[in-house]
Amino acid sequence: MHPYRIGFGEDAHRLQSGVPLMLGGMEIPDSPHGSTAHSDGDVLLHALSDALLAAFGLGDIGQYFPPSNPNYENLASQVILQTVQARIGDQVGRTEVVNVAGVVTLDRPKLGPYRVSMQRTLAELLETEPSHVGLSFKTSEGLATRHVQARVTVLMHAPDLAS
Ligand SMILES: [Zn+2]
Repeated sequence: MHPYRIGFGEDAHRLQSGVPLMLGGMEIPDSPHGSTAHSDGDVLLHALSDALLAAFGLGDIGQYFPPSNPNYENLASQVILQTVQARIGDQVGRTEVVNVAGVVTLDRPKLGPYRVSMQRTLAELLETEPSHVGLSFKTSEGLATRHVQARVTVLMHAPDLAS
């Protein structure tokens, strides 16, 4: 069996003014709005976490962090990601990210200026190189001004699956 797995994840949250905008493990400075969610609403980390779980057929983050559970209020999305990584480690053994590609759709603020720091932050969280983290930033051209959306694909190498 080939020791590679591909995963895809998607997430969206409603935007609300006066809330910090968390994206890709960092706060986007001077944003007019942020996402409302049970956790800190980081759609990129949520889509990434789902993509990682999907790569190994391990469900989705809603199973591990049900929105109905009040304990997960204001939960840092890094904790979600770390929990997912630990779960994959338990089930699959060693894994490494071959590469990850993410698309964020948001009308404002423009995210281009934060691409490099976001790549660096995500690479650190995933223990890979920033050059293995591709990020595209799109706008909805006014069609969806009130939410932020992320889609993520990951390719994972899991050598223990080869045997
Ligand atoms: Zn989410």
